[in-house]
Amino acid sequence: RRGRLAAHGHNVFAEMSALAERYDAVNLGQGFPDTAGPDSVVEAAVRALRAGHHQYPPVPGLPALRRAIADHQRRRYGLDIDPDRETVVTTGASEALAAALLALTSPGDEVVALEPFYDSYAACATLAGATLVPVRLRAPDFTLDTRDLAAAITGRTRVLLLNTPHNPTGAVLTPGQLHEVAALARAHDLLVISDEVYEHLVFDGVHQPIAALPGMFERTVTLSSAGKSFSFTGWKVGWASGPADLVTTVREVKQHLSFAAGTPFQYAVAEALRLPEEYFTAATDSLRRRRDLMTDGLRALGFDVRPPQGTYFITADITPLGERDGMEFCRALPGRAGVAAIPQQVFYADPDAGRRYVRFAFCKRETVLREALDRLKEGL
Ligand code: PMP
Ligand code: GLN
Repeated sequence: RRGRLAAHGHNVFAEMSALAERYDAVNLGQGFPDTAGPDSVVEAAVRALRAGHHQYPPVPGLPALRRAIADHQRRRYGLDIDPDRETVVTTGASEALAAALLALTSPGDEVVALEPFYDSYAACATLAGATLVPVRLRAPDFTLDTRDLAAAITGRTRVLLLNTPHNPTGAVLTPGQLHEVAALARAHDLLVISDEVYEHLVFDGVHQPIAALPGMFERTVTLSSAGKSFSFTGWKVGWASGPADLVTTVREVKQHLSFAAGTPFQYAVAEALRLPEEYFTAATDSLRRRRDLMTDGLRALGFDVRPPQGTYFITADITPLGERDGMEFCRALPGRAGVAAIPQQVFYADPDAGRRYVRFAFCKRETVLREALDRLKEGL
């Protein structure tokens, strides 16, 4: 088969969700919550529809949403962003990522990314004609040793592609690591694309955007998504923010990808970004309880797991169960136990390195997680 993305044709999320459906399994594979975001935000979308907002929004996004993005970045992180020139709304963070990589790299450039990496990183780097250079997070806690990052930088490196909190491991870069990464970016004059879609899903302390560190705003494009922060993954509203020169190039690409993202949902997300702090605290508290439930439950079943510091994913090492291959394990699991998970080897340049790990999503109701753990106990 030909085509520029032939090597990336297989989609693990689609495969595991299809298996989950076929076997009526509890789907802890693809990361989507089983409860909706706040009613007030749903109502805002309905109001926007009833008000007749059915036509194209401006390419960079509705002004009201761009103001809300800028206010959110100022309120939470002290970042001073011009909504008119320094933000762009996208069709999910997926499009923001694609547009940013296409905009900021040229064919032959190298993009250094933390490994394991979200699957579309490598695909989008390929689309851009760039090469993804992985820097492996160190087991067992998936910590970044910034010496590994320094060693991966060459004369062709153009972009550091960060992701914190990190999918799939749940690792969160510490303030010390962020400072060291920032120092490397400044020393080598690199751009940073910082994927912060899980910015609100941090269990200890608060999220720290690298763009807020000295000398970093002017070289960083930050990505986020309403899918993750407000549990509306199907609305596909994401955004990027950063200095006007970089955001302008991202907008130029984005207009030829989707042109613009769905109007009524943009009205609603503008309201979501103004939800009181209590909303975010309650959401994280609830998720933390479910993280603990899954950590204890999977551990009791014999998996080697550690509590993730952020996101709604938990990584489990299957080798203590006598299993060797996460892909085989995950392909069999829906039929064998009625539960679906994601094999982590698809997030590694060298699949062998991730063969022992599988990822469970715990953004489900507690009763559903308990059911999954009961099923695993029976079926493993
Ligand atoms: N980056 C990471 C790390 C993700 O896990 C995801 C999936 N939500 C995305 C980007 C894409 O986000 P969206 O669903 O808003 O396109
Ligand atoms: N980001 C989500 C995950 O990692 C959804 C991925 C997808 O469906 N493409 O599960």
